[in-house]
Amino acid sequence: AKEQNGSSYSLFHSGMGIDLARRFLIEKSLAGNLQELGYHFVLQPQINCETGDLTGVEVLSRWNHPTLGPISPIEFIGIAEETGTISRLTNHLLEEVFTFINKEKKHSKSFPKIAINVTSSLLTSQTFFHDLFLLMEKNQISAEQIELEITESVELTGSELTLTNLMTCRSKGISIALDDFGTGFSMLAYLVDYPIDKIKLDKSFISKIGQDARSEAVLKSLIQFVKGIDCQLLAEGVETHAEALFLQENGCSIHQGYLHDKPLSPEAFSKKYFI
Ligand code: C2E
Ligand code: CA
Ligand code: CA
Ligand code: CA
Repeated sequence: AKEQNGSSYSLFHSGMGIDLARRFLIEKSLAGNLQELGYHFVLQPQINCETGDLTGVEVLSRWNHPTLGPISPIEFIGIAEETGTISRLTNHLLEEVFTFINKEKKHSKSFPKIAINVTSSLLTSQTFFHDLFLLMEKNQISAEQIELEITESVELTGSELTLTNLMTCRSKGISIALDDFGTGFSMLAYLVDYPIDKIKLDKSFISKIGQDARSEAVLKSLIQFVKGIDCQLLAEGVETHAEALFLQENGCSIHQGYLHDKPLSPEAFSKKYFI
């Protein structure tokens, strides 16, 4: 994996001792009892702004560490990825999420499609997918219930294995979303090579709506492009009514962002959408 988020960078400034101690503690905690150590998840709704329907929900990891306090997922996912504990973390997350879905299904028959972020190192891991299918079977979670979000921000390595794994998912009925679309360096290659069902337009495009005519033109073209290749489309990071309106008028009606909902605790989510 590429160096990310200053983990190597930080060696060069004065906080070196503190940074290393922090990193060591996070690494150690990633191998510990995640639940007891304050790791949990939140849910962010995906809404069709024309109908108001809940079309899906993204699972986002949170960590309120007993001594370090809240740690950003960017930081701990990066460390988990580098140190090889990402599969353990993701499996733990899946268990928790599946348990939650089954609890909710007691009150309501239908639960929306649930999107899980999968880092690039897991995409080449046959063990990860094997575990995923086992967990689904054990918890009686159907494939149609699951969407995997993969990101184009890191160049894919071992693309043969990734392709095989994604094709297996697809053939079972699990859908695949391409996250952060437009920010990576190989988006067209992804769309040619991988079975992508949905594209998530990155929030950096959305936040320029109303500010920059050129960016708006790029966004409009991207929306047309996605329609042309018959993919579902979602806009990420929709924060204002003006953004929502622009997107809707230009053909993108599925939105995820603070305008509709911040990421919610599972309890708040079920209160708002199921009770
Ligand atoms: P992401 O997958 O692109 O997730 C969307 C991020 O945008 C989330 O940040 C979400 O809280 C934030 N967001 C949602 N709506 C808005 C909005 O309207 N405005 C703004 N400014 N932000 C919004 P978060 O939760 O801090 O996660 C950051 C990144 O960490 C995620 O980006 C994802 O790449 C990674 N991540 C989080 N949880 C997991 C996980 O369980 N597994 C993996 N592999 N990665 C995760
Ligand atoms: Ca995501
Ligand atoms: Ca994203
Ligand atoms: Ca992102």
